[in-house]
Amino acid sequence: MNELRGRVARTFCADPAATPVAEIRGHASTVLQRYQRGLDERLVDHVLEVAALGPEDCLRAGSMSGVDTLLVGDGAAVPGVVCDESRWLAATGEVCPVCGAPTRHSPDVLDALAAAVIETGGSARQIAADLMPDEYLVAAKLRFPPPPPGRTNGS
Ligand SMILES: [Zn+2]
Repeated sequence: MNELRGRVARTFCADPAATPVAEIRGHASTVLQRYQRGLDERLVDHVLEVAALGPEDCLRAGSMSGVDTLLVGDGAAVPGVVCDESRWLAATGEVCPVCGAPTRHSPDVLDALAAAVIETGGSARQIAADLMPDEYLVAAKLRFPPPPPGRTNGS
């Protein structure tokens, strides 16, 4: 029990002789899940303070390697476009405004964004959908303040 107690977020009373092991394990995993959820909740709060919110802002920041921590709501998927040459990401646009190459359509550009964030040394995390504010499928903690919106949609 000592080893177990050291790993979980808070202690709970269990008499090893009287409590079936499965029950202890079940309890421990519930505590761990709650602990992880608490961490995620704080992460969401923290990220929302210095953040890009919503797919458009996050994609713009991700295109400039500006994302430190990306939070994607569980099950969120947004169709978009990807430039394989310069790693530009956006919701729409047939031509990449960075390098002029034709873009590739992606059924879930958030997935490409998550990969790009990890590639540039950031982290990406899937968050329980109910922890994310309803209006945002995705949020990102930024490395630097985002530039004002520009002509990045290629239209
Ligand atoms: Zn490009």
